[in-house]
Amino acid sequence: SGIIIIKKIQHFKKIKTLILSFIWKNQRARIRLSLLHLYHDEGGLKCPNIMWYYWAAQLRSIRYYFSTTDAPQWTEMENRVLSPSLPLNILSDSEANLLKKTTNPIVKNMVKVRYNTKKFMKEPVTLSQLSPIWANQEFKPGRADAVFKQWALNGLGKIQDLFTAGSDDMMSFETLQYKYNIHRKYFFKYLQLRNFIQKKQSNLLKPFKSKLEVLVTEDSSKKGAISQFYNLLASNSSENSTIKLEAWRKDLEINLSLEEWRSVCIKAQKQTINLRLRILQYKWLMRVYITPVKLNKYNPDIPDTCTKCNEEKGTLFHCIWECRVIQSFWNAVTQTLKDIISKSLTQEPAFLILGIYPNYPKYAKSP
Ligand SMILES: [Zn+2]
Repeated sequence: SGIIIIKKIQHFKKIKTLILSFIWKNQRARIRLSLLHLYHDEGGLKCPNIMWYYWAAQLRSIRYYFSTTDAPQWTEMENRVLSPSLPLNILSDSEANLLKKTTNPIVKNMVKVRYNTKKFMKEPVTLSQLSPIWANQEFKPGRADAVFKQWALNGLGKIQDLFTAGSDDMMSFETLQYKYNIHRKYFFKYLQLRNFIQKKQSNLLKPFKSKLEVLVTEDSSKKGAISQFYNLLASNSSENSTIKLEAWRKDLEINLSLEEWRSVCIKAQKQTINLRLRILQYKWLMRVYITPVKLNKYNPDIPDTCTKCNEEKGTLFHCIWECRVIQSFWNAVTQTLKDIISKSLTQEPAFLILGIYPNYPKYAKSP
């Protein structure tokens, strides 16, 4: 995964087309793939997203760049592609500049992945806590200054070293002098540094540290890195199933909370090991069934009336609940349930369709 370079976005599009035609047997997709990528509680089916996996694998490799111990041999080779080292460059220069600086295809790809994932995570491209001071490509006084280099050797190498842990305020020059053994004649350099930070982010507060940044700079020997990166990317998907929730709220005329909806979605995947039943419940929740109303929209020659009663409009809710023909089925279901539990039971669609237990304790599932 560290070697394969997928250069063109078209390749991912091709893979997506293949997955879609496999899932929907070459027919029109009834649920967006981006929704299927989500986790169960969000209304997805955990369908793998190949691009996120690819990114996650590359990010795992990028993690080695920042590793001070146990880094594999190749990191040394790639670090030397740029001067000063690649990690310093990658944290202090723009994507366009970095791509111009090297012809090494692997390094170029890493740079692209890093910036693409930053964009995907909607991370601001401003100063980072991890940005270097010495050798920072955007901080002109720090680029090649021997004094800043000495500061770095003394422990003042990154922007975050200017701040006390747990505080957002920059340390005073006196504190830094004491902490990093800096001579007081360098006060001007401290001012240059302050000025740079002020310009970059229009304040002097500690820069933001994103989840992606935290993960990228974690100990590279830790296991499960690809899953961690994948989960982080997946959790940032702009896709959600709220539109389905809204439709159920309207049909059931109840104010279904997001929490309830999440548990309904999880229940659809967890309450049975029978795959057929699971997919059936999922299709209900996601409202994928082709109803007469939908068919009528594709083709006006097809009537939009319910095919069971031939009277009412064949909306999804009518077809699975309101129709008098289907109601006799639900009557039988409720009667059977009553016989089994020997208790009275109201016939509620929220319970029978979505699996939300009626709101009285005696029927509530014990925790
Ligand atoms: Zn009907």
